[in-house]
Amino acid sequence: MDRRILVVEDEKAISDILVFNLQREGFKTMEAADGNKGLELALSTPFDLILLDIMLPGTDGFTICREVRKQSEVPIILLTAREEETDKVLGLDLGADDYITKPFSMRELMARIKANMRRSASDAPTNASGPLITFGDVLINPEKHEVKVGEKAAELTVREYELLTFLVSKPDKVFSREELMEKVWNYDYYGDLRTVDVAVRRLREKIEKTPGEPRYIMTKRGIGYYFTRG
Ligand code: CA
Repeated sequence: MDRRILVVEDEKAISDILVFNLQREGFKTMEAADGNKGLELALSTPFDLILLDIMLPGTDGFTICREVRKQSEVPIILLTAREEETDKVLGLDLGADDYITKPFSMRELMARIKANMRRSASDAPTNASGPLITFGDVLINPEKHEVKVGEKAAELTVREYELLTFLVSKPDKVFSREELMEKVWNYDYYGDLRTVDVAVRRLREKIEKTPGEPRYIMTKRGIGYYFTRG
């Protein structure tokens, strides 16, 4: 099946080299050289992944990310030229799955693209079926890849879903952030463990009654995180 990637990038040199390499890897691509076109395409066309620059003419990457997340869980990798850490965390906060800082190597980018696609819902692993899992008023339906809190659907990103089900599969076992990065993000990460912290925080906001005093997704200070049945 053809995998389609949307490339939103205003620097033509970068866009060209991305498209060239993606096509060589067998992906179909569409390009947008400004934010407005990028947003329009992202909302109107199904993609398997979006590569999204942050600084764009027209709508900026953060806004696109937030708007896309309102209606889709397509994996989004931010392409950031900036070194500012706050930008990266902000991007993840707005629902991006990952980011990569320019200049990046094609090899690293391809590894991340593949890892993020592997984790996407349309490519759910075979163990995705199974019995419903409940704790408190949270219900996980692995077959539908769906999480409900009470009667309400919790809109988890693919990554948040994977993180939750991974932790839930081993109650009370503490995982370091490095371990979670490797197991849930599924590849050796080049650094930023705050990606895990941000994902945990977002997950808590979606499933915990009082995110600041979690009952289920717990912090083991100085080590990492674990799930408990509360
Ligand atoms: Ca740019």
